[in-house]
This record gives sequence, structure tokens and C-alpha cells, in this order.
Amino acid sequence: MEYIITVKDLVEVYADGTKAVDKISFNVKEGEFFGFLGPNGAGKSTTIKVLTTLLRKTSGHAQVAGYDLDKSPKEIRKAIGVLSQETSLDVDLTGRENLRLQGRLQQLHDPVLTDRVDELLKLVQLEDVAKKPAGRYSGGMRKRLDLASALIHKPKLLFLDEPTTGLDAQSRAAIWDYLEELNKKEGITIFLTTQYLEEADRLCRELSIIDHGKLIAARARDVGRRYDNADAERRDGRCFEIKNKGDSQNDSRSY
Ligand code: ADP
Ligand code: MG
Repeated sequence: MEYIITVKDLVEVYADGTKAVDKISFNVKEGEFFGFLGPNGAGKSTTIKVLTTLLRKTSGHAQVAGYDLDKSPKEIRKAIGVLSQETSLDVDLTGRENLRLQGRLQQLHDPVLTDRVDELLKLVQLEDVAKKPAGRYSGGMRKRLDLASALIHKPKLLFLDEPTTGLDAQSRAAIWDYLEELNKKEGITIFLTTQYLEEADRLCRELSIIDHGKLIAARARDVGRRYDNADAERRDGRCFEIKNKGDSQNDSRSY
């Protein structure tokens, strides 16, 4: 079996002594839609920052896209796309200019760059507003542009840090559709963090649950099956129950 991410005993301690990631281990298969579910402060963003080479790990081992995290950070950065929680857009540039800038940072040149930008604007349905400054976009439109930016160099592995937190239901549904298409049609492996069980349920075939820096449960499922209360789990003396009572965001949170 081919793994695109392998993580062994990963630890991240911040300068102030906060142990944000506490010896976690997991693997992600190539082509997988992998979910990392957990409440605020669980350690999701820290894990993504370490795996995407933005933050140096304290200890442990990790391979990403076939490369060792310590030895080949440059190669990893070329192979992956990252959608961080904070937007990376320049609000004074138009949607199209933002994508072109990102493309040039990734060493793309015309005519390839123009074609790729057109293709992405179409994918995230921003063609009509491509000439407007990103600063005038709604939250959902910015997220879609962020997603397009992360895809500019055709990464085979995409990291998404809470891509739909704070978005309205319609924007969320649109993002879900693009992500499913990227995973199914283009075969991009996706590592997604979320606070919402509903989102993990809709998208992820494999799911790990993180809390206080530790992985407390891991689940795989067949397509079409929902994660439900039967997945209640007892680990480290604590009971962790996945609740999925209704469709509202609060009901479908992991807590
Ligand atoms: P999540 O993304 O799941 O909400 P984070 O990875 O952002 O969680 O944070 C995990 C823990 O690390 C939290 O306790 C958070 O307060 C702490 N933390 C995050 N960034 C820093 C930092 N730069 N310095 C110190 N502590 C941090
Ligand atoms: Mg976070």
C-alpha cells in the first residue's frame, strides 16, 4: 500500500512550552480524502504547519509526498498545495492578478500560466468577478480564490485547514463540491481539518480525531456509510462520543 503521508510520534512544543501536538502517528494513503477532526485548540493547524514545512517539528518523524520532512522541505513544498486558515490573498489585486502572482511564485510562465489561471477561475466559478479586487469579494469568494491559489501548480497533495469555517451553507456546499471533484476526478490526495462532523461525514473516507494534541480515535468507512454514535470510543480513560444528531453546525460538532 502506498502512503503519501506517514507520521510517527510527532511532537510540537511551542516556545512558551505549549505542547500543541503530543506524539501523534498516522498514515494517509495516496488518493485518500483524509479528515482531521477536532475542536478549537486541538492541534490541527499546528500539525498542518509542521507537515507543510512552515513550522519545524520538535521531535518525531514524517514523510510527505515521498520526501523526508527534515531532508527535503523544498521538494515537499513543490509537491503540495496549502490552504491555510488565514487568507494569503492580496486584497488590492484582482482575483486574476492574485492567481497570476501565485503562479509566478511557483515558476509558471505564459502561455501555461494564463491557461491554468483560466482553468482555475472556471473551477471555482469566479470568472465573472476575476477583474474585481479580492478585497471586494465575500468570505466565500475569497475562500474559493484561496483554493484556486493553492492548486495553481497542480499539487498531488492538498492540505486544507478548516476550509469552510465561518462560511454560509451555500458557500460551504460549493467548496465541498469542488473538493470532491478534485479528489475523485483529478485523484488529488486531500488532508482536511475541520471542527464539523457533518463536513467529515460528507467528504472523508478516513477520519482521525484529535484533541489536546493527541489522536483519540481513527475511523475508516465505506463510501455511503455515515460516522455515527456506534463510533463512540473510550481511549485514555476518557469517553469520546461522536454526535451527529442533526444538521445544524452545533449538533454536528465533535463536542
Ligand atoms: P487548532 O488548529 O486545532 O484550533 P492549534 O494547532 O492552532 O489548534 O493550537 C493548538 C494549541 O497550541 C492551542 O493550545 C494553541 O493555543 C496553541 N498555540 C498555537 N499557536 C501557538 C503559538 N504560536 N505559540 C504558543 N501556543 C500556540
Ligand atoms: Mg486551527
